[in-house]
Amino acid sequence: MMKLASMAADAIRKGNFQALPPNIRVFQKSVFHQGGSTLAMVRIDGTDCLLIFGRGPARDMLPGSRGKDCTLSPLTVRTREALGALAPFTVPVSCGPGRTSMGLGDRLGIATPGHIRAVTGRDVFPVFAQQSTRELALTGRDYGDVLNAAAFAVFREGYRSGYGADADHLKSVKDIKDALAMGFSMITLDCSDELDARAGAMDDATALERYARLETAVRSRYESRYLEKSFTMGGMPFTFGRAELARLALVYHRAVDYMCRVHDECIAPLARSVDFEISIDETSFPTSPAAHYLVASELAAWGVKPASIAPRFCGEFQKGIDYRGDIERFRKELGAHAEIARIHGHRLSIHSGSDKFLVFPNIAKATVGRVHVKTSGTSWLEALKVAAGEEPALYREMRRYAIENFAEARKLYHIDAGPASLPDADGTKDHDLPALLDGDAERQVMHISYGQILLARDGSGGALFRDRLYSLLVRREERYAELLAGHVGRHLDALGRGTHGRHP
Ligand SMILES: [Zn+2]
Repeated sequence: MMKLASMAADAIRKGNFQALPPNIRVFQKSVFHQGGSTLAMVRIDGTDCLLIFGRGPARDMLPGSRGKDCTLSPLTVRTREALGALAPFTVPVSCGPGRTSMGLGDRLGIATPGHIRAVTGRDVFPVFAQQSTRELALTGRDYGDVLNAAAFAVFREGYRSGYGADADHLKSVKDIKDALAMGFSMITLDCSDELDARAGAMDDATALERYARLETAVRSRYESRYLEKSFTMGGMPFTFGRAELARLALVYHRAVDYMCRVHDECIAPLARSVDFEISIDETSFPTSPAAHYLVASELAAWGVKPASIAPRFCGEFQKGIDYRGDIERFRKELGAHAEIARIHGHRLSIHSGSDKFLVFPNIAKATVGRVHVKTSGTSWLEALKVAAGEEPALYREMRRYAIENFAEARKLYHIDAGPASLPDADGTKDHDLPALLDGDAERQVMHISYGQILLARDGSGGALFRDRLYSLLVRREERYAELLAGHVGRHLDALGRGTHGRHP
């Protein structure tokens, strides 16, 4: 192994890669000189490693196997942390207030090279690392893997423009502190456990009766700030009538207290800047502009400045498919949400934002580009497209398995489609198989089945699909990157983040 590493180092020194045997690959964009050392990503006998040589101190800073003239580091958490000190562009950073950013969840941990291709030349801040705890459980990964995948890909591709890492939909102070200690640059606080969602549907009398039981201090705070006050945001007027205020206080007051507590305990003490996102989107009813206004104002009164807030919008933002609902109403409410965000200084965050092409232009316009669009599973669907195109038998097997285990997947995700609405794959010719993944039902069923597919075991406990899928995607990584760049690129075009002045 170290002999092969020496050959790779020699090729880099001479700038001549022609003579390398096929089992050694140097990722040339990664070659990086630092304080007398040279670092590069190499693939030796199918394993990616970090290669370090030269007279600088870097060789002593990185763990791994030491040869006569070079060191080979495995792609571990320790290597990533040491690399971060030498190549700071591999460390995730916060986005800050004024830009468009895009969350690019990568459930498989191999999509970042394609995502880099998608964002290159566009004015967008990418969040390459982004997973929720649910996604970690369903993919058998941990936060170390998620950060490693993004940081090493950023290094491999020589991407130096900065990227974020979002510990997504976290609920507990402990999880948030752990994620921050690991280096995440964005925290998405999921307040759903603190929201009293049922109160949102209460009739006036019940809401007022329940509200009367809240502590006096809480009630007088809300009443002095909002009761019978009217506002117009984005051309939409709203008034906090007594019953409406009662409902909003019941739904949100504990959640607001929790947001403030998390901020004070986890975010305020940090010496670095972190994007603190607050999600109130996990409710069965849309977040009204009045509710968004109230939550944002309460946070401001406590001195909390979230980087972004994710309301739940009217209509349906289902996974993997386009927007469904009344676009005119969406446009109006979006205008109100955007103005509330603007006056409070946070950005709007759009969850389940993949494939919402019908409303992207509205979102870009209303927010003037100050928006975060979060996608999480769209890179998984593109990976399945590679499988459908390159290994139809594997795709058919995974699809059959997804259908058989659909009830399990459906427990965690809300979608309309089910196996009954799927087209017939047996009657579909192999070369038409990838096109199935342009259909809504196929996209939805396969989108939510990633956990079942990745964790499926055969009779002897081996992975049923996981290893075959990974090995295919590594073999066909160029194809995968091309599909991702195209699909994510279409999102960015629709969001007004085109490749200006660049010819594709
Ligand atoms: Zn969400």
